[in-house]
Amino acid sequence: MPSDILPNLGRGRRYLAIPGPSVIPDRVLNAMHQAAPNIYAGALPDMMPDLVRDLRAAACTRQHVAIYIANGHGAWEAALANTCAPGAGVLSLPTGRFGHGWADMARGLGLEVTQIDFGRRTPVDPQQVEDALRADRDHRIRVVLATHVDTASTVRNDIPAIRAAMDAAGHPALLMVDAIASLGCDPLRMDAWGVDVVVGASQKGLMTPPGLGLLWISDKALAASRQLGLRSPYWTWDRRIDADAFYQYFGGTAPTHHLYGLRAALDMLIHDEGLEAAWVRHHRLARAVWAAVEAWGAGGAMALNIADPAQRSHAVTSLRLEAPDATRLRQWTETQAGLTLGIGLGMAEPDDPAWHGFFRLAHMGHVNAHMVLGALGVIDAGLKALHIAHGPGALDGATTALLAP
Ligand SMILES: *Cc1c(COP(=O)(O)O)cnc(C)c1O
Repeated sequence: MPSDILPNLGRGRRYLAIPGPSVIPDRVLNAMHQAAPNIYAGALPDMMPDLVRDLRAAACTRQHVAIYIANGHGAWEAALANTCAPGAGVLSLPTGRFGHGWADMARGLGLEVTQIDFGRRTPVDPQQVEDALRADRDHRIRVVLATHVDTASTVRNDIPAIRAAMDAAGHPALLMVDAIASLGCDPLRMDAWGVDVVVGASQKGLMTPPGLGLLWISDKALAASRQLGLRSPYWTWDRRIDADAFYQYFGGTAPTHHLYGLRAALDMLIHDEGLEAAWVRHHRLARAVWAAVEAWGAGGAMALNIADPAQRSHAVTSLRLEAPDATRLRQWTETQAGLTLGIGLGMAEPDDPAWHGFFRLAHMGHVNAHMVLGALGVIDAGLKALHIAHGPGALDGATTALLAP
């Protein structure tokens, strides 16, 4: 073999391990590969009742579903536009990056935002939520905004504990949960947990290209929205959750090919694998990642952003290294090994040298043991190639954690 050829070990199927868009299954891609359908009659309109039923199953709810041709930001705005008139109070509980984005949107809509910022490494403290709601004696706060999994910090919040804090305060606000990164990956039970609005999007645990914003809406949130005189005609959820004609689900022409893709994704998630089995799969894969990081960290700077396993996402893991090693490692895995890791979103400003000390590994959606173990092996190789100090035994730790009951 010629010894002067530099190897490129990145040929082959790539693994996009940024936390969204996630890996799109071939079955979803193939389902979308169709000629344009008739939107007035036939298979596409006929598929809506089952699609809505399976979307309900994905959030463990028997209540309402609204679909928007939008990304997650659109669904954020829809949740607020249906429930809050200008001047209404909002309690925002950021635990990383995404709660701030939702709060900015609330401010942009003219809402009065009260914020308790829990930083980038810890979850919401329910006691502080209870105290803030008790202090709101005349019930100016209309909605509480929580992020289930913050995709930047990779904190996973205890939603039932936030609900319990609201109940302990005897406060009537609606609980809205951004589950864009967790839906289909981490356990989420809308009805059992007393959530009023769940916000989702197609491109993460739902394994479908970006372009669908989703809301799951409780009876209580629906009733609250109907008391509001002033609502945006396009974003209003009334017709979308109770459509007489196909176009009313979408406020216009349907997102035809996204619906084919989502149908295939829900077949995989709800019918073939089963939602709870998908949760268990994500937990096992996450444990493998955590075990590898602990081994690397025993001999170097690599560390998990969230110390307590009970507070970590099962869908994505935020990691710390010494700057600029995180950026060097990402570049190596992408150019030399076919693995695209996520940037360290929101952990430092992009012009701050510290920014190069953070990265993320997504293990959400259509991922399995060989992909995640492969990603860990590639990171291990990258640490060696770049002479970044690290402890041994990461893959041994990962496989043991993967198999542990
Ligand atoms: C990805 C994400 C968003 C934003 O979704 P877009 O589709 O990019 O608008 C919001 N919240 C969370 C938790 C996310 O992971």
